[in-house]
Amino acid sequence: MDLTAEVLGKRSFCEAVMRARLPKAVFKELKKTIDYGAPLDTAIADSVAIAMREWAKELGATHYTHWFHPLTNVTAEKQDSFMDPVGDGTFITEFTGKELIKAEPDASSFPTGGLRGTSSARGYTVWDCSSPAFVKEIPNGCKVLCIPTIFISYGGEALDHKTPLLRSMDAVGTQALRILNLFGKNPVKVTPSVGPEQEYFLIDKAKYEKRLDLKLTGRTLFGAPSPKGQEMDDQYFAIIKDKVSYFMEDLNKHLWEYGVPAKTQHNEAAPAQHEIAPIFGTTNIANDQNQIVMETLKKVADRTGFACLLHEKPFAGINGSGKHNNWSLSTSDGENLIDPGKEPETNLQFQVFLAAILEAVDNHPELLRMSAACPGNDHRLGALEAPPAIISAYLGDQLGELVNQIIENGEPGTSPKRKLYRAGCSVIPEFKMDATDRNRTSPFAFTGNKFEFRMVGSTQSVAQPMMVLNTIVAEALSDFADVLEKADDFEAAAKQLVVDKLREHKRIIFNGDGYSKEWIEESAKRGLPNIPTMVEAIDYFVTDENIRMFEKHGVLSEVEMRSREIVLYESYAKQINLEALTMIEMSKRQIIPAVLSYEGSLASSVKDLKTVGVSADAQLALIRKIDEQLALLMEATDRLEEITQKAAEYKDDPKAWAFYYHDEVFSFFDTVRTPADKLEKLVAADAWPLPTYEEMLFEQ
Ligand code: ADP
Ligand code: MG
Repeated sequence: MDLTAEVLGKRSFCEAVMRARLPKAVFKELKKTIDYGAPLDTAIADSVAIAMREWAKELGATHYTHWFHPLTNVTAEKQDSFMDPVGDGTFITEFTGKELIKAEPDASSFPTGGLRGTSSARGYTVWDCSSPAFVKEIPNGCKVLCIPTIFISYGGEALDHKTPLLRSMDAVGTQALRILNLFGKNPVKVTPSVGPEQEYFLIDKAKYEKRLDLKLTGRTLFGAPSPKGQEMDDQYFAIIKDKVSYFMEDLNKHLWEYGVPAKTQHNEAAPAQHEIAPIFGTTNIANDQNQIVMETLKKVADRTGFACLLHEKPFAGINGSGKHNNWSLSTSDGENLIDPGKEPETNLQFQVFLAAILEAVDNHPELLRMSAACPGNDHRLGALEAPPAIISAYLGDQLGELVNQIIENGEPGTSPKRKLYRAGCSVIPEFKMDATDRNRTSPFAFTGNKFEFRMVGSTQSVAQPMMVLNTIVAEALSDFADVLEKADDFEAAAKQLVVDKLREHKRIIFNGDGYSKEWIEESAKRGLPNIPTMVEAIDYFVTDENIRMFEKHGVLSEVEMRSREIVLYESYAKQINLEALTMIEMSKRQIIPAVLSYEGSLASSVKDLKTVGVSADAQLALIRKIDEQLALLMEATDRLEEITQKAAEYKDDPKAWAFYYHDEVFSFFDTVRTPADKLEKLVAADAWPLPTYEEMLFEQ
């Protein structure tokens, strides 16, 4: 594949395309909004719409759609063709500024937490010009111009992930500017960035098609462990299979065409698990691009003989998938505010931002935990593979030492310098090692010039966790600015504030092993919350303190928060309900019949053997073993059916409904799964109705 301009960014209505195709004055006006957040001058919309339409048509687009992010973790689109009748039986292609800026989709069929009903369905999508439009292409199929938009209700409440994300970007930018102004700097804008590393599984499509659980719920609800798992440590960064490599080439081509800067790709720790990481970008754009990445992963997999699994825990007993969100703040002058520079000990501005971030995390660990809550992530967090469910921050040697000195002595000493490495072999060059080690067990780790929020689930939209992080950091920066703006001696006050704040928030710093039992005890002593499940985490969202904070920064109103709380509870209940129904279906209609027929064939062989005078003891012993597990499975399946039906009684109270699903339904899954998995190991391979773990994980 040629890495030419033909390929790179060809389907993105990016800045270069706009500059080339828009009248100069229109481009300048649009740039003001994109770069500096100036309100969009709607008078330019017609001109942009014409240029966009012509560009999209040249790429073969016949339709356009407002493309938005409802509260489902996937995107939504309603396509309209560019074709308009003129009235004389002929047609012209039309696309006006009005159509570019606003559309009115029905909002009642999306999760709204009661904000919109079928009788009050109106919703609006409104163009977000800061994220490039793009032409989506199905090879040999439809080509559609996708226009990124926000999605709001008739009452003006946000019904999507993008609106509060954009608001939170404004909030953290505004507060960061207040601090920078005190340091005598005046950049036009401060923007948060994110680089999301996306993990996924790739399995053979034919096997996937035979697994109802994977198709309907995203994870295996049954499946005995494979003899080989990931214990040999031979999968991470391993040689990529040719077939997977062809998939990756196709994936990259599409992503590059969309302008997604896909950069890093490798095999992950579990068999059949991989990762892709694009180069980081402005949070809003990176969030849109992550959605494109997730969609393209699935589509390209489907076309190349694979199924891509994005679920947080598709297979029990081996690692699940996360989405590490690398986050930083940078100015329009190109300065990264999270970069400590060569001498962090003399970099007061960095120290102020570091102290504010630690304050944000320490004051709101529950909220940050909540932001990474989704049903699939309950299988990962705290399960000795991903970060624990306890929030802490890792600073590494250099910063850890600096912060210690400030806490203990009230001022920084000298920080450890980067060591020179000598391999002891003449052919290997010397090099300077990083000042900071890595900690893969920390949920919030400093990694040189950014923080890596490692808790987020692989299916999740980047927007929710980033919206929370931006807001809590905005809150801390705002409190810092309130103090510092009043100070007579700014520098002395800033130094003192750093000392006070680092002392106050010492407990949130943890550089050790986050998977260890000792940390669970130690963090409890420090008073850090350990919230293992999604249903418990949701409870920490709508508190008086959080309502005040989200409203103060204009990110979410109380009404919006309450609706999101309901959506979260309902999404949990619905997912577990789906898993229960799928389990019942597979048990009753696939596993039990297969075992019965295998048992039947054994029983008739007993008869045959006896007629020729053979005891058939072995067959009888096996039948008894099978029968024991079969009875357990049948009983458990019936019980699961009863328990699941009873959930309807709680439906009017979303919280009680979700808790019922967690405490009664979800917690019963193992009682059904255990006998089924035992049966899998008793029944002949060719009699088992489902592809096994070893077949799915090792026959990619
Ligand atoms: P790792 O070694 O942690 O797996 P990767 O190379 O897979 O790292 O991904 C790191 C991610 O962090 C990439 O998306 C990269 O672009 C992003 N990143 C790098 N610098 C910054 C920064 N200053 N702000 C935000 N993200 C960044
Ligand atoms: Mg990585």
